[in-house]
Amino acid sequence: MPAKELTRPCMDCKDAEAILTTRKRSLCSHCFKLFIQFKILRRMDGHKAPPKIQKEYLPSKLLLPLSLGVSSSVLLHILDWQLERQRSNPHSRVAYQLHVLVIEPSTISPSNSSFDSNFEGLQKTFPTHIFTRLPFYSVFEYVPEMKELILEYAGPQFADDSSQSDEARLAAFRGSVSSATSKDDLDNVLLTRLVVAFAKQDACETILWGDSDTRLSAKTLAGAAKGRGASLTWQVSDGMSPWGVQFEFPLRDINKPELQQYKSVCPELSNIVIPDQPIPDNILTKNLSIDELMMRYVETQGAKYPGVMANVSRTANKLQAAGSDDPASCALCGSLVGNVKGNTGITVASQFGESQGSQFCYGCSRSRPEIKS
Ligand SMILES: [Zn+2]
Ligand SMILES: [Zn+2]
Repeated sequence: MPAKELTRPCMDCKDAEAILTTRKRSLCSHCFKLFIQFKILRRMDGHKAPPKIQKEYLPSKLLLPLSLGVSSSVLLHILDWQLERQRSNPHSRVAYQLHVLVIEPSTISPSNSSFDSNFEGLQKTFPTHIFTRLPFYSVFEYVPEMKELILEYAGPQFADDSSQSDEARLAAFRGSVSSATSKDDLDNVLLTRLVVAFAKQDACETILWGDSDTRLSAKTLAGAAKGRGASLTWQVSDGMSPWGVQFEFPLRDINKPELQQYKSVCPELSNIVIPDQPIPDNILTKNLSIDELMMRYVETQGAKYPGVMANVSRTANKLQAAGSDDPASCALCGSLVGNVKGNTGITVASQFGESQGSQFCYGCSRSRPEIKS
């Protein structure tokens, strides 16, 4: 057969037109997908089914929190592809069950519109997984001590009204936090607590977070700036979280532009992914949270020096949890309270009489409503 006439042949298969360039290689969509799938699935090597000889076998349950952003949606797409292959191969078994949790975006930020059609699209495109959607304020239901904890944490100037709905109470708490950095910081803590509590109730042994390498680098830099360096061992590295659920980050070898390229060659993701809200160019830097600033920084610098930014999260992934003389952990975020010399956290006396009150770490104490930073 005569060779195909190709203007720009794919550098891998040499049999199709290259449609994009990644890591200095021009590839066709098929080879590009294989490259990204390989990078992600080798991070899933720890989740394998035992050989068929072993009769009794119940696949483990893994939880994927889905923000409907590009990264977690691509992760779902690739894990679905892996499970589908295992299912259709008579010689293999399904390695795990995927549970997908969506915290309703409109309950996190009012600027996010309803996602009903995206959720419908999800269930249609990936019919074999279990999907749950929860509003952000269900953190009070899943973490029952959270209502009291928030009262202690916010301090006496925060007036909580127990006759109000959970939705209104969470909105009042979030409204009492003044700076953008503290708001983002506390939202992240509460979202993590909700996802972990759901994973535990649902008996999921591992949470697969959809953070790209870009996001992990930004989290590392922001975590250090916010006094949360000690919790990077589980917020950025693969390992056990303080709540006894394993945290893993299978996208850690792929940066965000590569995930966007992947989405561009998967038309089935177009009615699922909610595009990022662009930060307006004229917004004052001081109105951005440290998390947003660091994400912006890593995205722009990563475009110029991809290797340098990848190194940030790679280095953080090697961190070991530091030992501490004080094993007490923060009531809110789960970090060790006395983890850094001099930054010993705070104990807040309870407003409820007898009990001793809760301890909060240095990172959380910096985000408290009355502390202006
Ligand atoms: Zn190819
Ligand atoms: Zn804390």
